[in-house]
Amino acid sequence: MPRITENLNDCAVRLRAGQLVVMPTETVYGLAADARQDTAVQQVFALKGRPGNNPLIVHLENAAQATEWASVVPTAARELMAAFWPGPLTLVLPARDEVSRLVTAGQDSVALRVPAHPTARALLSAFGGALVAPSANRYMSISPTCAAHVAQQFADSDLLILDGGSCQVGLESTIVSVLPGDRPRLLRTGMLGQPALEAVLGQPLADRDGGPRAPGQHHRHYAPTTTTLTFRETPTEALGSADCGWLWCANAQPTHGPALDLGTDPHVYAANLYAALYELDALDLTRLYIQLPPSDAAWAAVHDRLARASQRLN
Ligand code: AMP
Ligand code: MG
Repeated sequence: MPRITENLNDCAVRLRAGQLVVMPTETVYGLAADARQDTAVQQVFALKGRPGNNPLIVHLENAAQATEWASVVPTAARELMAAFWPGPLTLVLPARDEVSRLVTAGQDSVALRVPAHPTARALLSAFGGALVAPSANRYMSISPTCAAHVAQQFADSDLLILDGGSCQVGLESTIVSVLPGDRPRLLRTGMLGQPALEAVLGQPLADRDGGPRAPGQHHRHYAPTTTTLTFRETPTEALGSADCGWLWCANAQPTHGPALDLGTDPHVYAANLYAALYELDALDLTRLYIQLPPSDAAWAAVHDRLARASQRLN
């Protein structure tokens, strides 16, 4: 049985001993291990069932530690760090030779982030090193945004889960690569949006295509086990079915089956999305219907995750 704790020191001791611990961050909960111990990193891949070609993000206590992992920190990366760290931004930079290629999935670049969650920062400080921390869920399932959902994912393990409440951002970090000979590139959307990044960079970000391999961006990901369909036009014939669940963002309609309304603020919606999916997925419904939010830029990351979690109905 996993154990939920608030004891930071127990967690730091386990991490130093090469064991895994679950840590809260402002994006989602992470399955943390000492980034300098290959045997610990191997356990992360094994427990998640994550393929070895999907690299991990190295979590640091502060930006000054970036040079312990990156061989070069280009000016554009320094500007982004100054503006957005600590926060939900991951930077992919050239890796130093001694960085484990287990962490980078064989690549010569490494992904770095300084999380903002106070408990994550306190754990990094108590541990005294860097932590890999991919989302604390089994490969391809929904990322957990509270301790109880982590416990559900790893019910048959004896993991120690450091409780940090509900994640405030709720979606995985925005990922930008800043590599020599290439323009800064947006590899994964997140709630830190493209306009804010471009305002700091003073230039448009290139998109993923043509950039470095950004593994782990499978079309299907973050998926509930229930058949999940997104819609713009309400499938009115399903409103009366008791075994259909609903996730609304505006103009929620009366339904016979269970329904949640996440509202029209993209940040509030994102913070609550995964918990809502866990809740509805647990009800053994035949279908889950999700109303698509508006298409403007503030919803880009939500649309990206919904597209991976579902099929489009209309
Ligand atoms: P997460 O699944 O949130 O742990 O984030 C890991 C994701 O970061 C991977 O699936 C990749 O998409 C991306 N990533 C990590 N390291 C690199 C890297 N060296 N180059 C490109 N993308 C990376
Ligand atoms: Mg993940």
